[in-house]
Amino acid sequence: MRTAFISHPDCLLHHMGPYHPERPARLKAIEDELAASGLMDRLERHVAPLATFEQLKRVHTPKYIASLAAAAPATGFAYLDPDTAMNPYSLAAAYRAAGAVILAADLVIGEHAENAFCCVRPPGHHAERNRAMGFCLINNIAAGVAHAIRAHALERVAVVDFDVHHGNGTEDIFRNNPRVMMVSIFQHPFYPYGGVTGRSGRMVNIPLAAGSNGHAFRAAVNEFWLPALKRFKPQMLFISAGFDAHQDDDLASLNLLEADYAWVTERIREIAHEYANNRIVSALEGGYALPALGRSVAAHLKVLNEP
Ligand SMILES: [Zn+2]
Repeated sequence: MRTAFISHPDCLLHHMGPYHPERPARLKAIEDELAASGLMDRLERHVAPLATFEQLKRVHTPKYIASLAAAAPATGFAYLDPDTAMNPYSLAAAYRAAGAVILAADLVIGEHAENAFCCVRPPGHHAERNRAMGFCLINNIAAGVAHAIRAHALERVAVVDFDVHHGNGTEDIFRNNPRVMMVSIFQHPFYPYGGVTGRSGRMVNIPLAAGSNGHAFRAAVNEFWLPALKRFKPQMLFISAGFDAHQDDDLASLNLLEADYAWVTERIREIAHEYANNRIVSALEGGYALPALGRSVAAHLKVLNEP
């Protein structure tokens, strides 16, 4: 079984203006690097379906889902917050992005793929149950987690979030769900300025100061994430794979390198091997320095795809 690579052309059509950092070229940079490194030939490509209303209302309110459809413009842009806009293609892209993670869960749980990476945008982890924000419309990873729980009856699912920003939306959706553990690391104080006071046995939020490097990141993973995950014994792991903590990324001020992304992916695979029948679904979140983004995703996928 190989690693599944799930995307859709609609994800290239959504954009938020020529100067917005969350731009279609991000996906091109990733695919170019995977092709150049030869990794793409070893992945099993899949086309993302559209998520359904029934799947999305597990994680968003029907009123919010309807409001997204109503906001979608016929031309130009509709702003949902100062950083987050829709163009005429955004709604389809968001439904494909969530549909990718749902398909990934089906492929991995059904043993058609060992693990999966969803190369999609818009990202999702800032989208709350009833609010778009931070470049995110629908919480893709949450839709996949809810699908694993509701359609496949999993009882313990872990979300691992190493994006440089706190995944406030995922926390909002799952804070009171005993079947979900979330472990995260994020720059603090920094957008969206939450996550620090909400720590619990199942919300393992680890803030890092600006300027922190891979040494601090690895120490936090070893000290906080791994013991928590071993206690929880997840049956499946979902990764909110943001690469904006890279030292080349101008949107934030952490200093991770490709080797740190490979290292943490190895640790996640070890947990998945021990408790979760190797089940991992990873989905792209942030990452805005294009060459570093391409190399970091390749490092992440190389580990996921190792026998
Ligand atoms: Zn981010």
